[in-house]
Amino acid sequence: MKILLGAHLSIAGGVDKALERAFKLNCTTLQIFTKNNNQWSAKPLNNETIQNYKRLQKITKINSVIAHSSYLINLCAKDKSILKKSREAFIDELKRCELLGIKYLNFHPGAHMGQGEEDGIKIVAESINIAHDKTGGFRVKSMIETTAGQGTNIGYRFEQIRKLIELIEDKIRIAVCIDTCHIFSAGYDIRTKKSYEKTMSDLQQIIGIHYLKAIHLNDSKRGLGERVDRHEHIGKGQIGIYAFKKIMNDERFIKIPKIIETPKGNLDKFDKMNLELLRSLVIKTLP
Ligand SMILES: [Zn+2]
Ligand SMILES: [Zn+2]
Repeated sequence: MKILLGAHLSIAGGVDKALERAFKLNCTTLQIFTKNNNQWSAKPLNNETIQNYKRLQKITKINSVIAHSSYLINLCAKDKSILKKSREAFIDELKRCELLGIKYLNFHPGAHMGQGEEDGIKIVAESINIAHDKTGGFRVKSMIETTAGQGTNIGYRFEQIRKLIELIEDKIRIAVCIDTCHIFSAGYDIRTKKSYEKTMSDLQQIIGIHYLKAIHLNDSKRGLGERVDRHEHIGKGQIGIYAFKKIMNDERFIKIPKIIETPKGNLDKFDKMNLELLRSLVIKTLP
């Protein structure tokens, strides 16, 4: 079984270019934005771009692609005009994914901005229900990413993710992504055998591993439970190499795409370094 390992890669020059970049880095999966991440609206994908993307996908044989939604989107925004814009932008991104045949649109639940966590979760669920209603029949799933819980961001406790899933009507359209930096920063330790097993069994019991469809592999610049989202190179942060060795060899996660979102250097130098390190961790048996 080939491991699914890749990186979040730039779409500069077109979404198809990300596949070329992935191929050069020996990636077997990748994550992209389907549009400029810093703008609310984007030109619709034209047929030529879609065809180029699908042609490149055949050549590179990289079929596992995840889209990450724009950071501008806040599906529980307090400001009604931002909430409206966010909902429209999320629906537009689902449409872009569907056109490209991308199966998962990863998103951060949102920041409640003082409305409270409980109401925040309800508003996010409402946003997702609306989005699913407006995209009936689509194959793309909305993938909830666990957060570090920075500021008023929700989704930093597995219980909050479970609550969100409970409130989303179409469970078939839902998936979950854990980010090692985020869970660690949110207070879930994974640095030792015991803490790793405890965190993963919480994940299984509270959310359910069947929902888990991607893992973001990032080390953390900040400490356990600090609730600050700062990614670091694999093995060079507060988490350290052991947790990554465990994940790379965890049988429960063999078929799960693993994506790095570590700091970028020129010419993908750092991506190459982090991916090579992760590949080198794959062994048959763990002590
Ligand atoms: Zn992430
Ligand atoms: Zn992050």
